[in-house]
Amino acid sequence: MPAHRLCQVAAGRLKSGGYPLSIEPEPMSDHNPGLRPWRDIARRQCRQIMVGDVPVGGGAPITVQTMTNTLTSDAVATIDQIRRCEEAGADLIRVSCPDTDSTAALGKIVRAARVPIIADIHFHYKRALEAADAGAACLRINPGNIGSSERVGEVVRAAKANGCAIRIGVNAGSLEKDLLEKYGEPCPEALVESALDHIKLLQDHDFHDYKVAVKASDVFLAVAAYMQLADAIDCPLHLGITEAGGLIGGTVKSALGIGNLLWAGIGDTIRVSLSAEPEEEVRVGYEILKSLGLRTRGVRVVSCPSCARQGFDVIRTVQALEEALSHIKTPMSLSVLGCVVNGPGEARETDIGITGGGNGKHMVYLSGVTDHHVADADMIAHVVKLVEAKAAEIDAGQSVSMDVAHGKAA
Ligand code: SF4
Repeated sequence: MPAHRLCQVAAGRLKSGGYPLSIEPEPMSDHNPGLRPWRDIARRQCRQIMVGDVPVGGGAPITVQTMTNTLTSDAVATIDQIRRCEEAGADLIRVSCPDTDSTAALGKIVRAARVPIIADIHFHYKRALEAADAGAACLRINPGNIGSSERVGEVVRAAKANGCAIRIGVNAGSLEKDLLEKYGEPCPEALVESALDHIKLLQDHDFHDYKVAVKASDVFLAVAAYMQLADAIDCPLHLGITEAGGLIGGTVKSALGIGNLLWAGIGDTIRVSLSAEPEEEVRVGYEILKSLGLRTRGVRVVSCPSCARQGFDVIRTVQALEEALSHIKTPMSLSVLGCVVNGPGEARETDIGITGGGNGKHMVYLSGVTDHHVADADMIAHVVKLVEAKAAEIDAGQSVSMDVAHGKAA
């Protein structure tokens, strides 16, 4: 979709005043969209639903999801993987439930998980009943695929009884036969019609705690379908470019598709689908949100590609720093530039900056101001210490301001 179309959509929403200008702000030390109008994103207004204790839609922060790839029946391996995804920042985690061994293990998995678990069900509605009873916070199921209206009614009853949400997941690769015959091929109208058909089945049973996805591996198709759907319904939207590919190709496709939609204000929860470990999906999801200033988490690194002017090995330094700083959750920024061409300018805009100098001595900037030099050999360990100290300072500042807000400060 051309950028001007996105601008028109966003501008239309801004003019109409129908959509809130910004999501609930999260703590951030930089990149605050509210301070710069050209960074504002007007989010589509929609109903809010709860997935466990996580709000989705209705102005809630956009959540990042992923999906495990272990056998769900192997609760230990699945919980292990869930832990790694939680550490990477996943807000919601989906597990497949293709058989009774999986739903039998689900209770243990749900109890061990620190984030709500979504059960992924295809065709076998009884797995949905079992998953709801086992404590799943959400069922990913397409009501049109499970047979009779009685069965849909049973699933809805189980969802209501257990406080489960439902996610309808339309996929261009598995569109209903009648829609393929009607439209000739998967197209935005077919995806939207499929979603509306599934939604109607839930509404007929007076169920409204649902969110919807209309995914395709083709970026143009997915984006056009989501754009149409966003105007047609008022429930939260789950965004994804399905089967996007490997880590690099899939990241680029997802950033284009999900990124364009988010930029236009569309989307309440995202899943980046990569042929890579689920933790990577979470990291990429966050990077997309961070790039748009919609959420922040951890260190936002600004770094140059390096060239013959570099005063140190920028590429290896950034790799080492990203690895060493992956445990930092506090939103902050770090610039790593090889020389004075752009180093001071970028350092001015970041919490901590390093700029390559001559003779293996490099300038360190704190809060945008030159502070001291560091030698080549000590640089990585030194920057890690500075970032950890800054993160602690920001965290302490936040708890002090919370105390002040609650009248606890002296
Ligand atoms: S900041 Fe310096 S080292 Fe980095 S790419 Fe630019 S000119 Fe080259």
